[in-house]
Amino acid sequence: MRKRLLIVGGGTAGWLTAGYLAKRLSTDLPGGAAITLVESPEIGILGVGEGTFPTIRRTLKTIGISEVDLVRKCGASFKQGAKFAHWRFTPGAPGPDHYTHPFQLAQADNGLDLLPYWLLGHGGEANWDEVCSPQKKAADAHRAPKLPSHPDYVAPLNYAFHFDAVALAGLLRDKAVENGVTHLMDRVTQVHVGEDGAIAGVDTEANGRLDADLYIDCTGFRAELIGKALGQPYRSRRDVLFCDSALAIQVPYRDEREPIVSYTLATAQEAGWMWDIGLDRRRGIGHVFSSAHTDDTRAEELLRAYVGDVGGDQEVRKIRFEAGYRETNWHKNCVAIGLSSGFFEPLEATGIVFSEVAAGLVANLFPWGGDHETSARQFNANMLQRYERARDFIKLHYCISERRDSEFWRDNVAASSIPDSLHDLLDRWRFRPPTEIDIDTNVDIFTEASWQYVLYGMGWKTDLSARAGAYRYVEDARRAFAEVERQAAFAIANLPSNRQLIDYARTRS
Ligand code: FAD
Repeated sequence: MRKRLLIVGGGTAGWLTAGYLAKRLSTDLPGGAAITLVESPEIGILGVGEGTFPTIRRTLKTIGISEVDLVRKCGASFKQGAKFAHWRFTPGAPGPDHYTHPFQLAQADNGLDLLPYWLLGHGGEANWDEVCSPQKKAADAHRAPKLPSHPDYVAPLNYAFHFDAVALAGLLRDKAVENGVTHLMDRVTQVHVGEDGAIAGVDTEANGRLDADLYIDCTGFRAELIGKALGQPYRSRRDVLFCDSALAIQVPYRDEREPIVSYTLATAQEAGWMWDIGLDRRRGIGHVFSSAHTDDTRAEELLRAYVGDVGGDQEVRKIRFEAGYRETNWHKNCVAIGLSSGFFEPLEATGIVFSEVAAGLVANLFPWGGDHETSARQFNANMLQRYERARDFIKLHYCISERRDSEFWRDNVAASSIPDSLHDLLDRWRFRPPTEIDIDTNVDIFTEASWQYVLYGMGWKTDLSARAGAYRYVEDARRAFAEVERQAAFAIANLPSNRQLIDYARTRS
């Protein structure tokens, strides 16, 4: 008999999982698993989550979505990383007011690792993000990561997308159904748990009882299956990441030819930060903040001041969340994916990528022979480590700041709010920079390049003086830095603007 999989929830997590697993588990073939997705029309989806990670390209390609469809149907634009303003110093203080975390890895010329040379001062005055790859300068000039002639998901500069989250869920749904997923618009009213502690079936309003071999909980913060029915606890990490609220607004461009910024802009505030994401026809802006350090009124006042008159009297949407994760996200025959599994503030766009990772793990660990326990153990261990490493990476943006202008920033640098694992990493990097030996690609979403961009963008000091003599290829390094500069100038001269590439995709036949 075919294995049956029931996904409850049709937000980004549900439909991404459905579309992806339909391909990986061959839903459309007789030997494949049968996938049904049930979503409640009344509850609706969260519908925020506009910034992604470069892994999304492979995921969308597997599902069978084209870049043209992304641009036309989801208002997509090309994202080349994140730009952080006012994270290191209070606005107005002397010193650099921003740094970037581009997706492009640092260039290595003939295997020469450039970072130690930059740390020793051979890269000049410029920041690390500027000297190690051409991407920062190209993105600052609003260049796209590729030419119109490059195939889908292929480019000289690494990239992801910004898109309209509600439209994306719709596109993912259409593809998943095309890939063989059965779609039910219905509400799950009860989850039955058998004597063995596994889910025995779910009741729905219109379709009666549904049962499956594997249940996937994509019900968002409600966590109807993994949390409410199976009682798997949610571990709050607000002790580390204080933000628990967001106010979101969508605003038009002042002028329809205004450049589309190729980064997610993240501007630090007195008790949090604001995101600013440029799509093809509008911007999505949000204020993420800690309710323990400010209130909604002040947060909205700052958001409206940031947005200016283009915000008009547009309504602001309020969202509450709790930074954290479940330590057990696969229990018996139920797996949680998406917000039901865990969530951190969207500072580094870790929401959707966790759904991508989880869907990939389920495809690889799918219990064809019925052995849920072995798969669950591996899944839970892997996801937990991923959550903990991502938590540390996000905390890094706060805990090495030199800002002390509010309680929020003072609390963020308190040693007690920094996990031991992060203290340990920072200790390592006082006398050597992060390298691949600090990274485990099986659990780390962020590579050593990401850690380097944030550390050195924030002015972290790694003292290489004791080993300076080991770096003898100074002239080669200087040549490599000059080559990056040449490549940046070439990219700026030859790549289309972000808006031109989007317009091209819109009009391509
Ligand atoms: P939801 O969108 O909430 O979907 C839940 C689904 O479950 C819905 O279809 C609902 O109808 C259904 N459901 C619930 N109960 C039942 C029931 N009883 N019966 C049937 N159906 C039911 N991620 C990023 O990657 N990048 C970002 O920039 C980003 N920004 C974010 C900003 C904010 C402020 C927040 C809060 C999150 C952000 N995220 C971001 C995370 C991202 O929004 C989520 O990862 C993504 O939306 C997935 O949500 P979901 O599908 O798990 O839940």
